[in-house]
Amino acid sequence: TPRCNVDGKKMIMLCSNNYLNLSNHPRIIGAARDILDTHGAGSGSVRAIAGNMDIHFEAERKLAEFKDREASLIYQTGFAVNAGLIPQLAPGREDIIISDELNHGSIIDGVRLSHAARGVFKHKDMGELDDVLKKADREGKRRILVVTDGVFSMDGDVAPMDQICKLAMEYGAMTYVDDAHGEGVLGHHGKGIGHHFGVEDKVDVEMGTFSKAFGVVGGLVAGSQDLINFAYNKSRTWLLSGSHPPQVAAAQLAAVEVLSEEPEHWERLWENTNYFKKELNGMGFDTGESETPITPVMCGESHKAKGLSSRCAEMGVFALPIVFPMVARDKARIRTMMNAGLTKEDLDEALNAFEKAGRELKII
Ligand SMILES: *Cc1c(COP(=O)(O)O)cnc(C)c1O
Repeated sequence: TPRCNVDGKKMIMLCSNNYLNLSNHPRIIGAARDILDTHGAGSGSVRAIAGNMDIHFEAERKLAEFKDREASLIYQTGFAVNAGLIPQLAPGREDIIISDELNHGSIIDGVRLSHAARGVFKHKDMGELDDVLKKADREGKRRILVVTDGVFSMDGDVAPMDQICKLAMEYGAMTYVDDAHGEGVLGHHGKGIGHHFGVEDKVDVEMGTFSKAFGVVGGLVAGSQDLINFAYNKSRTWLLSGSHPPQVAAAQLAAVEVLSEEPEHWERLWENTNYFKKELNGMGFDTGESETPITPVMCGESHKAKGLSSRCAEMGVFALPIVFPMVARDKARIRTMMNAGLTKEDLDEALNAFEKAGRELKII
């Protein structure tokens, strides 16, 4: 639960990715438990040979329906999607992969597995993206792939997917968004970043994960049927690695069903997020560029962030500091992640701890 034991002490959890608290949802737990009796504990193979069970297909069908896309494919993890699919979409020396400078490490590893040229643009800088695209076009690159995080996990800000899609279309480039922190969070009912910007039919590849808001584990891709056929024929991580045990697939299916049928979790997440952010700002804390349930509490130098975190921990609030070299030297922070399962009382208790510790350390 959002109140959890950390080293034997009951604490309010503010750094889990379990945004919607679905990992504790009875229907999802039940679905995972029940299928063990009929399907066994493991799938016995990679999907492409004998590891396909009905439940894997059902989860993918339901996911595609939820995301209003033609098809979807579920990988072992989100990391396996980025490492397996990115290098296949733009594999050759005559191709180019263009990345936001703050993209997640798993994207960087995926890019490393390709022979394609690399382009980087300053964080969310559409002018620079335009320049890099123009150059790639001038050089006659065969395939151009623009890759970005949807929600950036350090600041909680959101990639301008509408503008990225528009630019990419002008240059005939493909778009790929890693919506790991936006899946279940952004867009109506948590349908993701495509819906958030109304470009769900324009983003070529929307990938995400079941390990965050969905509360389970597993990587996901949603897009056209052609994309999905390509992905499962080409992604080595998908082809050459065992499929999820049935209880994982059943939990994924149940999680998507819960998201479609019970909007209250998603609504609660945003209510909590807005309240927490507003109160922090009211106390004088700087929450940076955040537009999502990832709310950084800016502290300045590393020792202040570490101090704030340990004082909060003493008061029963679990929120870890992020310091150099993860972020710039003077941008140390505590990164909080909101959870739909926290009550107003929990939030007030956490806020009191932040206020008290923030004053002691002269951050506010
Ligand atoms: C967490 C995360 C991943 C990895 O997802 P897993 O399913 O946990 O492997 C990939 N990209 C981003 C941006 C993430 O935040």
